[in-house]
Amino acid sequence: MSMRRLMLSVCLLAFALHSPRLANSQATPIMGFTPSAAAHETEIESKFKAIPSPDEERRQHHIFTAEPHVAGSARNNELARYIADEWRNEGLEDVIIRRYDVYGSNPKSTFLEMTAPVHYRAGLRELPVPGDPDMKNKSISSAWSGMSASGEVTAPLVYAHSGNPEDYELLRKQGIDVKGKVVLVRYSNPYSYRGFKALTAEREGAAAILIYSDPAEDGYKKGQVVPKGPWGPEYHIQRGAITYDFMVPGDPLTPGWASVPGAKRIPVEQAVSIPKILALPLSWHDAKPLLAHMDGPVAPDDWQGGLPIKYHLGGERVRVHVKIEMDNSTQPYYVVEGRIRGAQLPDEWIVLGNHRDAWVFGGVDPSSGTASMMELTRALGKLAKAGTRPRRTLVFCSWDGEEVGLTGSTEWGEQFADELRKKAVAYINVDSSTSGPNFHGQAVASLAPMLVETSRTLRDPSGKTLYEAWKQSSTRERSETKQSEVTDLNVTDSNLADTRIGSGSDHTVFLNFVGMPVLGLQFDGPYGVYHSAYDDFFWMNHFGDPGYRYHTLMSQLWGVLALRLANADLLPFDFASYASNIRQFVNELTKGMATRNDTSQLDLKPVLDAIDDFEAAGKRLDESAKHALASGAIDPKLAESINHGTMQVERNWLNPDGIPGRPWFKHILYGARFTYAHLELPGLTEAVEKQDWPTAKQQAEILRQALINNTKLVNQLNSSLNGETADAGK
Ligand SMILES: [Zn+2]
Repeated sequence: MSMRRLMLSVCLLAFALHSPRLANSQATPIMGFTPSAAAHETEIESKFKAIPSPDEERRQHHIFTAEPHVAGSARNNELARYIADEWRNEGLEDVIIRRYDVYGSNPKSTFLEMTAPVHYRAGLRELPVPGDPDMKNKSISSAWSGMSASGEVTAPLVYAHSGNPEDYELLRKQGIDVKGKVVLVRYSNPYSYRGFKALTAEREGAAAILIYSDPAEDGYKKGQVVPKGPWGPEYHIQRGAITYDFMVPGDPLTPGWASVPGAKRIPVEQAVSIPKILALPLSWHDAKPLLAHMDGPVAPDDWQGGLPIKYHLGGERVRVHVKIEMDNSTQPYYVVEGRIRGAQLPDEWIVLGNHRDAWVFGGVDPSSGTASMMELTRALGKLAKAGTRPRRTLVFCSWDGEEVGLTGSTEWGEQFADELRKKAVAYINVDSSTSGPNFHGQAVASLAPMLVETSRTLRDPSGKTLYEAWKQSSTRERSETKQSEVTDLNVTDSNLADTRIGSGSDHTVFLNFVGMPVLGLQFDGPYGVYHSAYDDFFWMNHFGDPGYRYHTLMSQLWGVLALRLANADLLPFDFASYASNIRQFVNELTKGMATRNDTSQLDLKPVLDAIDDFEAAGKRLDESAKHALASGAIDPKLAESINHGTMQVERNWLNPDGIPGRPWFKHILYGARFTYAHLELPGLTEAVEKQDWPTAKQQAEILRQALINNTKLVNQLNSSLNGETADAGK
């Protein structure tokens, strides 16, 4: 142990010895709790935090990563039954497996060969590496893309860089047309959803798209590869779906309603989220011979990748033959649901979820999250059995088919949308729990302060509080990110949590369709095996989280957040913080308009005024709530009516018509681009970007009305909390 480490340990020990006394004399306040309730909550939380153990996390992780378990597979369904059994044993109530019959997308066969100038047959396989027994598993699938079309084509190959619209623009300038051809594109860094690459290629008229992992993105250019390091080896294949779920997620044949057995279905031809292009992912091992033989102009410098060859744009010399046969028969997906019924407010729900389906073993994605969920339910079940029940109901869900199109969560959310809009307080999503030590916490802005507050009460494996560790890694990451992508390089409590929420995981239906506040939690680190067979138990035990300490911390964090939301006297929403976030979104939009000299086209002053009013109302409610909580007791009936009112605020951000062109996405503050990237004020921003001023004016007015409605609501709640009227929150 170094001197510095020793000094640190001494300091920590001194802190540890002093803190209990501090806690007794003046209990640490918790947002939304009276002082005595906060003291009681702190006791419950310490009992809870002591239960999750790294050994149990590892044991569960081993069960979930033992076999490939893609959506719809027998193994994935077996794991659904396993979760249901565990939950019943752990003391969860109302455990049920719900079935959705969805449009299936499974490979019957995939085939790729280069027919000219030389013959090469792509292996489409991930080969074993020394030390990892799972890589010898016979049921590892070959390369395939979820929702690829079926068909066959032999055509010239064109290299289209990342496959973004501007890449095709460049090809056009070079005289290269991709119509009827096969395009070869790379996965992108930063991440861009492959479905957008497929849609772009389809719009350009390409017959097929091959998406490969360049070593510059997640392979040897980044560092040591498996089995020596965490980066992707020569044969790793990033599988994944290309579903156009940025148009509408879930089962493509039931857009907006649940695929329960017997539900009405639209014809396949009308389904906007089903791609019409052939698609296949490739390892760089299979992409290299194709790239090496291409002719045509030399690709621009920033199109050159990590392979030791000159990348050309191609166009004539290399011809490939692609053949894909998919099975699209209807297939059942299973969502496991269980709950711990609230002792006092059973009809107020905190929903927690993680997806179960994996492209192969799902070491990180999602089985690390599933292991964390199983330890979470064991710990909360144990407390409930011992008589410590949350005040509100905790609902736990194991989603299916997330990887295909956010399918299980979307169908469940659509099925219970009305009930959720009445009862749900929030949804907390954990997809991958950990691929490393860096914490990323996402929250709608009203819940960001409580997430930051909660992070102060947990201990990171480094010895620091999670809050300190989070601040440190965020500061480092922001200094490494390009200036233009981050507005505020300075990490503060008010911008620590990420309040820019895009799509790409199971929170989507709850935020964008139901109108629930959401939180998303993840630890990450160097990770080059995403969606490949190498993302497995071996990888986690050697690189991701060898001691399962971050898995354990995730169970603790997830649980403490759920307990705070479940036990609070007044729900810990911070609307002033929400208002200042919205103001930031509007200011960014205005800045973008100014750079294009568009500011005279749209007056956003009325929106900014409405934000000011909402912020003032939020501050007043916050003051009144603090005052009421400090007084020690709030009439339960009054608290219930205030809480029902504050739950309504998020629903009021929904526009029933949805955003222009994408009616399923109803939230007016949060949306996602086709790449899954976050898109604030989606309807307004897209209209401004298109310079469609009538639509922009209409969207700005919808935003202003929602702000006015919520200001009115928050003002009513404030009056009623101050005893000025009797029936607020209706
Ligand atoms: Zn996932």
